Amino acid sequence: MSVSFMFLGGAGEVGNVALELAVDGAHFLCDYGYAPSRPPSFPQRLTRVPDLVLLSHCHVDHSGMVPHLCGRSEVEVLATPPTQALSELLAYDSLKVARNENYSLPYESHDVRRAQGLFDLAPFGGNREVKGVEVRMRPAGHVPGATMFELEGSRKVLFTGDINTVDTHLVRGTKPRPCDYLFVEGTYAGREHPDREQTEKRFVERVREVVDRGGKAIVPVFAVGRTQEVLMLLARTGLETWLDGMGQRVNRIMLDEPGFLKEPALLRRAEGRARYVRGEYLRNAAMRGEVIVTTGGMLDGGPVLSYLRALKDDRQSRVFLTGYQVEGTNGRLLLDRGLIDLGDGPQRIAPPVEFFDFSAHCGHGELVDFIKGCRPEKVVLFHGDQREKLAADLEGDFEVLMPKSMEKVKLA
Ligand SMILES: [Zn+2]
Repeated sequence: MSVSFMFLGGAGEVGNVALELAVDGAHFLCDYGYAPSRPPSFPQRLTRVPDLVLLSHCHVDHSGMVPHLCGRSEVEVLATPPTQALSELLAYDSLKVARNENYSLPYESHDVRRAQGLFDLAPFGGNREVKGVEVRMRPAGHVPGATMFELEGSRKVLFTGDINTVDTHLVRGTKPRPCDYLFVEGTYAGREHPDREQTEKRFVERVREVVDRGGKAIVPVFAVGRTQEVLMLLARTGLETWLDGMGQRVNRIMLDEPGFLKEPALLRRAEGRARYVRGEYLRNAAMRGEVIVTTGGMLDGGPVLSYLRALKDDRQSRVFLTGYQVEGTNGRLLLDRGLIDLGDGPQRIAPPVEFFDFSAHCGHGELVDFIKGCRPEKVVLFHGDQREKLAADLEGDFEVLMPKSMEKVKLA
């Protein structure tokens, strides 16, 4: 009876999560993603084909390598229905982005199709047995369908994927689950989020102010999660809100699986109120509207760039960033230095920029509470570049491990 593991990526960094985990002779691969930087970075090679892939959620840094694996091996992928549908959408979109940017990904469209056929779908509470180890699925509170996996063999292991313990408009926050060994993400180790309600209130007020004085509110969003959160907030305002980009298709997928939403009626209403931009003609109409919600969330591509080109001299308008801006992205450049590359080098634009923290991850204190609530014997921190800050608040209570990628560790 034993538990051992090795991260192939995503241990001391945010991105490309891949965890090989062996429990009592059953071999699991927990997530298999790549970091969608420009160009992307990939996890190390698998040491073996797993018995089962456990896919926590759709985001590319957790799911992006699944087509690569399934295109070559007959291995099943356990996930929820929204995770399947959303990861398919993101996999095709990533291929499109890669073609536009002239780099290659280690899979093709036919691998995505093959992977889709290898999904084994289950709801929260669903379970499977692999070589005597029971696998159970629990909600992670991160985005619709996001799952924590409980593995019960000789010891109980919990793999969180990405988690949030705070309720958002889209999903309910997750709760701790007792376990012996806890693998927990630490994206926001050392950082706290501001109060959610206050942030939402301030966001709506600021958007209104801009519209009232005749400007446009440009709200760049991530397609999965942030688009829907922002639309639900804006639905109450009565402002003329246009939605452009991949978020439109994500809305459809989420509404097709209402059981994974906190309040499906709210999203349905928000979707009904938003005007969809389909084609260039409507993009012009959106430009005459009040609020434009559009991908990409970090301003590195997508329709948002067309809007910024059109409004770059308009001082009345304003850009509202709603998600974390990774180093090296246009969004980060705009936040830090007031510059943006719209295709011909970094330049200043007239609309001011504001940042709102609508994170779908636990902040530092919430992570500590979650971990303590699980009462584990050992905690393995991953998916964080400041894990030691989290460890400092846990030391003494549990044994805390901060493995490096490619470090083989035996827990029992
Ligand atoms: Zn995520």
